[in-house]
Amino acid sequence: MSQQPWVLASSNAGKLAELTELLGEQSVRLQSDYQLDAIAETGLTFVENALLKARHAAQYTGLPALADDSGLAVDALDGAPGLYSARYAGVAQDSAANNRKLLQMMHGVPDVARTAQYHCVIVLLRHATDPVPVICQGSWAGSLLQAPRGSGGFGYDPLFWVASEQASAAELTPERKHQLSHRGQALRRLLATIHP
Ligand code: IMP
Repeated sequence: MSQQPWVLASSNAGKLAELTELLGEQSVRLQSDYQLDAIAETGLTFVENALLKARHAAQYTGLPALADDSGLAVDALDGAPGLYSARYAGVAQDSAANNRKLLQMMHGVPDVARTAQYHCVIVLLRHATDPVPVICQGSWAGSLLQAPRGSGGFGYDPLFWVASEQASAAELTPERKHQLSHRGQALRRLLATIHP
């Protein structure tokens, strides 16, 4: 399987760079290199969406396919924004709008009840009909600040307080975030599974 490239079911060059660094000699290409567009994420769980994306990429390219799906689950909001993290404030909105909406939804919720977790699922399908996909997951627990802090990271990071670091996720170095994060955990598990 390592002779042919893997396709990453994403058009995000940042995700590709992170994976390429970790995967050593295994070459990985973005699905956009194959003129493949994103499919609708119609699953009801992170794992379903990751599988949908990977299967679509494997079907179209004939290559092994990797996909990830991730989001923020807030306890006081029954797990929202969850699967809809990227489009919480609407499809045409950006992270700043998502963060503003989250702060509004959490208005009046005391610090003790502002717990939240980032989740990430990564899937590797060896081919489109692979009945035994590699599925790895990571979770990162934190709590939500009352106002944004820091300028690093992306998405909800300025609101995600990491008590062990006494910092928001947006105040961590990329290296430190990767050591702790849901995505870093899932990626390391994937690597340990495929290169035991
Ligand atoms: P996707 O997995 O690329 O579809 O991303 C889902 C969404 O979850 C992102 O657009 C962010 O809003 C949120 N998210 C996932 N991981 C992180 C993270 O590490 N930091 C901040 N936001 C994240």
